[in-house]
Amino acid sequence: MADKKIFLPESEMPTHWYNIAADLRNPPPPPLHPATHEPIGPEALAPLFPMELIKQEVSAERYIPIPEEVREIYKVWRPSPLIRATALEKALGTPAKIYYKYEGVSPSGSHKPNTAVPQAYYNKLEGVKRIATETGAGQWGSSLAYACQQFGIESKVYMVRVSYEQKPYRRSLMQLWGGAVVPSPSSDTQAGRDILAQDPQSSGSLGIAISEAVEDAAMREDTKYSLGSVLNHVLLHQTVIGQEAIKQMEMAGDYPDVVVGCAGGGSNAAGLMFPFLKDKLAGKTTTRFLAVEPASCPSLTKGQYRYDFGDVAGLTPLMKMYTLGHTFMPPGIHAGGLRYHAMAPMLCHLYAEGDIEARSYPQNPCFEAATLFARTEGIVPAPESSHAIRGAIDEALAAKEEGRSRVILFNLSGHGFLDLSAYDDYLAGRLIDDHYPEEKVAEAMKELPAI
Ligand SMILES: *Cc1c(COP(=O)(O)O)cnc(C)c1O
Repeated sequence: MADKKIFLPESEMPTHWYNIAADLRNPPPPPLHPATHEPIGPEALAPLFPMELIKQEVSAERYIPIPEEVREIYKVWRPSPLIRATALEKALGTPAKIYYKYEGVSPSGSHKPNTAVPQAYYNKLEGVKRIATETGAGQWGSSLAYACQQFGIESKVYMVRVSYEQKPYRRSLMQLWGGAVVPSPSSDTQAGRDILAQDPQSSGSLGIAISEAVEDAAMREDTKYSLGSVLNHVLLHQTVIGQEAIKQMEMAGDYPDVVVGCAGGGSNAAGLMFPFLKDKLAGKTTTRFLAVEPASCPSLTKGQYRYDFGDVAGLTPLMKMYTLGHTFMPPGIHAGGLRYHAMAPMLCHLYAEGDIEARSYPQNPCFEAATLFARTEGIVPAPESSHAIRGAIDEALAAKEEGRSRVILFNLSGHGFLDLSAYDDYLAGRLIDDHYPEEKVAEAMKELPAI
């Protein structure tokens, strides 16, 4: 009988992160200065990030060594298991094989500590005492609080207000790991005060929270900023996922025909996909790559490929991304980690080049998929991850329709034990039927810089 779970020994944990910048057919468009619209150099990022992370952000090296101290902490949850979804396959009656890489085994229950730990480490090395950041659903804030705690650094987390209210236990986790948390928009920053003056009831957004955290870090000598997704160095750190999965798929005797990931800022999808994409870009494989996003925040499938800001206040450099407009405020759906107006520039570049496909779903069909998954495989998925499950299930059903096998690999980016109120709403039929908010996007697109 074939193994259901494929474990790698710790000795097989990756020793390097994989940098896809070394293998691209064409270079991605450079980030631009927000005022001059000229390409910016790495020094422009120095007030916000430690130098080692900036070097990684612009590196062209194919492999970047993972520091021993980081690998030591990675061992708490890495290598993560690869699991064959045998019970789900059976329930679907599909000839497809479905595998998933399970990142919910980390301390915070998602893939995010894969980058939080090295980010805290490099800050510590350069003498930083305090890190400010934003969080949507609270996954990133709790991961960063955990990582900072490992290295004796203070953390300050601006948490999107709707999640602060919907997910009180993520707040508890951050506090348990020594972090300070405020709902965003907050009165602690000028960006927050400006939004509150316009709309005291603002439910917040990732873009607003980013503005607050960036401002906090820019105003204080002892503080740097940290981002849980979108940037090249974050995607880089997440490639431990895909590198492990390559070895584990080999142990299982399979190779994926399609690799699926949910996409908010793009980091868990990229982390699983990029090591496999390396072989596709080299012409060795024909694997498909599918990014799945929510219908109410569909940056890849409905956005325009334009230069835009990463935050609402327009403090960040301009990056070329598929964007819905930096002032776009997505509806308060339960997959809080997918409510970002744009997508990682590196993932966008590969999407524009035709190497990655994208699809969007409303939240109800995603929760339906997550419920089937919980009833068959047992694990309760994060609402974000339910998008990848929906995508994987539809790939498996398409294989059934064709009467052909297909090897599907998806990233189960986190567990949903702190999202049970969302499942309550789904089971009671209270989840809003979300859809593409065309008019709000059209409004936000008017605010885009004319480049
Ligand atoms: C944050 C989060 C996401 C979305 O972020 P990406 O950068 O797109 O990966 C997805 N799943 C989980 C469980 C998350 O916590």
